[in-house]
Amino acid sequence: MTVSLDRVSFTYSSGGAGLEDISLDIREGELLAVIGPSGCGKSTILKLIAGFLIPQSGRITIGGEDMTQVPPRKRDLGIVFQNYALFPHMTLAANVGYALKLRQVPAAEAGERVREALGMVGLGHLADRLPRSLSGGQQQRVALARALVFRPRALLLDEPLSALDATLRGEMRDEIARLQRLHGIATLHITHDQEEALSMAHRVAVMRDGRILQVDTPERLYARPVSRAVAAFVGQANLLDGVVIDPLNVRTPIGNLACGAHAFPRGMAVTVLIRPEAIRPVESAAGPNRFAGSITRDRFLGALRRFDFTLANGVRLTLETDRHVAPPGAIELPPAAVQVIATGQEGAGRSAETKNVNPAVPA
Ligand code: ADP
Ligand code: MG
Repeated sequence: MTVSLDRVSFTYSSGGAGLEDISLDIREGELLAVIGPSGCGKSTILKLIAGFLIPQSGRITIGGEDMTQVPPRKRDLGIVFQNYALFPHMTLAANVGYALKLRQVPAAEAGERVREALGMVGLGHLADRLPRSLSGGQQQRVALARALVFRPRALLLDEPLSALDATLRGEMRDEIARLQRLHGIATLHITHDQEEALSMAHRVAVMRDGRILQVDTPERLYARPVSRAVAAFVGQANLLDGVVIDPLNVRTPIGNLACGAHAFPRGMAVTVLIRPEAIRPVESAAGPNRFAGSITRDRFLGALRRFDFTLANGVRLTLETDRHVAPPGAIELPPAAVQVIATGQEGAGRSAETKNVNPAVPA
């Protein structure tokens, strides 16, 4: 079922930052990831949908039904938190069956559904174990089975993988994505890990300071960020301050560049985005959008190499190439790879403080 937030605003009573005018749909069958830096309001969104918090204004609907004031228990949502809080004295089967007991599902049917749910997460053979005899990843699978077993109207996941080590996290990503698609259940997946979001979600919402900056498919978010803040947060990015010359040219601290077509007016202050993998190593700096410089850092990353390339005027760009490519003495910025985007209010402070270049953003 579709879950909708319609112009929802919320402020904590202590005056803590909250959410400002959030409109967002988690569509039927969709896995929507919400990403953003710590403290930007991700968990607050989840708590509002779950009913642990009530917004000061706006509406929350599930399947078209107004839920804004409905208590959490009556919303019928499956929720998984980072610390999965299984009942330590209950077997896995009892943990998973608990929600059915609360809902007074007859014992025979409940038993069947618990078996099915544990089977789904690959733990059918451990039904009689206690949680403490399981690994972290297995416990998180139980939490997932527990959230799915009562056939909730939607699934809410708040950083469910953050406590797991890298290998398990990768496996669980695939597992959650598989289960979500199998059930076709509307799912909100909160994470601070952009790679997790991009790899699992049908759409991703990027948040900052209690607001949503962009909601889009992973591909569009990466290829067409609407603002500097989104570009900086999603993937690696070279960001330059720019001023529009005309629809195909922009002035930057490294010179005038031919750019991809855009609709910003002449003279407007913009941000120029160049993704590291779109920069071409070349033999000579002769020609448009080409620059000489030197490699100031060389990182071997397995399948690829990431170079810091410092131009004559001191501006540093990050490029990524196939691992076999020798460190280049010159680079080309193909016009299509030079994207003009809005600097946006949220980018203003940042561009001032980082001057002309914002090197690769930490993952
Ligand atoms: P995220 O999940 O993105 O890390 P949260 O939604 O938990 O962020 O928090 C958003 C903002 O609201 C933060 O600035 C946080 O300090 C504040 N906040 C969260 N919970 C409370 C609370 N119970 N009381 C007051 N402020 C809170
Ligand atoms: Mg949180």
